[in-house]
Formats: sequence, structure tokens, C-alpha cells
Amino acid sequence: PSIGVVRESGADERRVALVPRAVASLVAKGLDVVVESGAGAEALMGDDLYLEAGATLGDAWSADIVLKVAPPTDAEIARLKTGATLIGFLAPRNAENKIAALQNAGIVGYAVEAIPRISRAQVMDALSSQANVAGYKSVILAASLSTRFFPMLTTAAGTVKPASVLVLGVGVAGLQALATAKRLGGRATGYDVRPEVADQVRSVGAQWLDVGISAAGDGGYARELTADERAEQQKALEAAISTFDVVITTALVPGRPAPRLVTAAAVHGMKAGSVVIDMAGETGGNCELTVPGETVVINGVTIASPLNLPSTMPEHASELYSKNLTALLELLVPGGRLDPDYSDDVVALSCVTRDSVSNRN
Ligand code: NAD
Repeated sequence: PSIGVVRESGADERRVALVPRAVASLVAKGLDVVVESGAGAEALMGDDLYLEAGATLGDAWSADIVLKVAPPTDAEIARLKTGATLIGFLAPRNAENKIAALQNAGIVGYAVEAIPRISRAQVMDALSSQANVAGYKSVILAASLSTRFFPMLTTAAGTVKPASVLVLGVGVAGLQALATAKRLGGRATGYDVRPEVADQVRSVGAQWLDVGISAAGDGGYARELTADERAEQQKALEAAISTFDVVITTALVPGRPAPRLVTAAAVHGMKAGSVVIDMAGETGGNCELTVPGETVVINGVTIASPLNLPSTMPEHASELYSKNLTALLELLVPGGRLDPDYSDDVVALSCVTRDSVSNRN
């Protein structure tokens, strides 16, 4: 089958689904890779690099297997040929997803979000690879917006205390944020509703904030809190938040709006010059005063809600994503033939449209 690497159309999307090195490995296996001109430009990977890797430039949208980063638009779906396979972020749990449109267009869609989070599929886990990028960048952004140092400094002009950093929601992004804050010399503390996270927090040298609420849900994800639990959590967090220089929030519950963890009152309790980075802006935000996609300053506290942080580091984000897709392709195209084995959970669960079987997740 031919593999198409298309150019992303979203204004803020700088990633590309396959980097030239990954193209070379597919070409070495005898696959044809067609790249849309400019596909890697925003990630600083020019057409020349793709040509050198053995791709051809052309109409990547009519390939047998099309690789993408962001979910397709209707116009993009119209460019795919009937029966084609599309692999990418398809946002299957998002209410505005294009799953039905893909189904109607006769496209076999694989959503990377739906790949099960099991050891064997870790190499394909694009949610994790991109969350790592986002978690790292959130701390760099916090450090740059902060009026204070992260590390402790002992200088002739006096000693500076290290910044205290609280990370709310410690999944993949949160854990990377804690580790990055530590590397910058900050004092890091993590909080989550899944109690098993405590050991992971400690393993990166951060402290665990225990609020006494346990809300582990299915598949390693958190469940939504009850109203009572929410009130209790907000009270405990309000008291804790005022003591931190930086608060980074990453809390998500699959298919639900982001839980509100940082109330307006908590922000008002923070010292001027403090920073909140809300990474849950896409689903409404974890902070009550968040304006998704914007940076606002309230009583001297900066609240930033950057969308699509992985796209701000397009080179490494694309490299990691490309590795995820190449591993998934190995399952779908064994021995160079498109022959997905639907008895394999990774294949069956990530496939969200197939023949007449729609929306399997
Ligand atoms: P996520 O992005 O869905 O959520 C981020 C974090 O927010 C989670 O840790 C969640 O517990 C937390 N959260 C939700 N509601 C909260 C609340 N009200 N208060 C505080 N915290 C709240 O999470 P993720 O990064 O996608 O990770 C989800 C799970 O997948 C984790 O268990 C992770 O260890 C697991 N995982 C497994 C593998 C693997 O084995 N292949 C790979 C990656 C992740």
C-alpha cells in the first residue's frame, strides 16, 4: 500500500505525522511514501529531506494509508479515497468528532487516542509521547512567565529561595512537569485523585500532597468526583495553593469537562507574581479564571492556558509521534501488506470506523 504524509491545515499545528527518518525506514521495507509538499515545513523538515529519505512528493491525500496529526476537517475527509485508511488523533471521545463523517466516506479510521494503554502498546502511545512534550513545555513557560527564579541561588547579593511548584493531576504530562520543575531546581509537589500516583510522584523527587480523596476510575483513568468530594477537594486545595509560586494543572477525566481544581478564591489567595499554567484549556480548564488559549493577569497572578503545547516543539513532538505511528503501522501492515488483525486488541480498539461497524469505542 502507499502511505501518504499530508500537510496539516490547522493554523496552530506545526507537527508532521512522519519525519524523514521514519520515511526512510518504511521505504527500506518496500513501501511507497508520498509526501504533500510542505508537510514538514513547520517542523523545519523540508521537502528535500523527504526526497532524500526516498519519498516522492505528490497527492498524499489519495494514498492507501494517510497519516495525520490533528483530526481531519470535512474538506480533508472529502480528499481521501473511499476505502482508504486514516491514522491520527481522531478525538473519538470529543462530542464534535468526525467519526460519523469518516464512516460515511468509507474510511477505515484508527484513532491513536484509543490505543489501549498496555505495556505492549507503549511504543505506539501517542497520548503519552505528546503529553511528555506538553508537560515539559508547561514548566518552561511557567519559568519564563514567573517573576522569580526556579533554583535556589546563593550569590554575593544574597540568597534566593527555590520556587515551589504544585502540579495538579499527575498523569504523563504532570509527571514530566514535576521532573522538569525538579531539574530546574524548583521544589515540586504533586497531587492526584488516583492514590497509586503517590509513589510515581516521589520517584521523581517530588512531594505528594494528600487530600484524602480517592477516585480511580476505569483503565487507569480518574472518575469524576461527586459534589461532596469536589467541595472537600476545593477547600483543601484552596488552602494549599496559596503557598505555591507556580501551579500547573493537567487534570482530565476522559469524555468529561475538565474538573475545576483552582477556584477564583484560590487564585486570589496567591501572591502577586505567581503563575498558573492550565493545561486543560481544551476541555474548559482546571482553573475557574482560565481563558482557554489566552494569558490573563489577575491581581498580579498570571494565568496562562496554552492550547496544543506539543505543536510549540514541532521537531521532537513530530519525531516521537512518528515513532508511535511507525510502530502501529508495523501491526497494520505486516510484511508490507495492509492486513490488520482485528483479533489483536490494539488493532480492534484503535480502529474507530471499519466497514459497517461504526464507532466501536
Ligand atoms: P489524563 O491526561 O487522562 O489525566 C491527567 C491526570 O489528571 C490523571 O492522572 C488523573 O488521575 C488526574 N485527575 C483527574 N481528575 C482529577 C481531579 N479531580 N483531581 C486531581 N487529579 C485529577 O491522564 P494520562 O496522562 O492520560 O494517564 C492516564 C493513565 O494511563 C494513568 O494511569 C497512566 O499511568 C496510564 N498510562 C499507562 C501507560 C501504559 O502502561 N502503556 C502509558 C501511559 C499512561
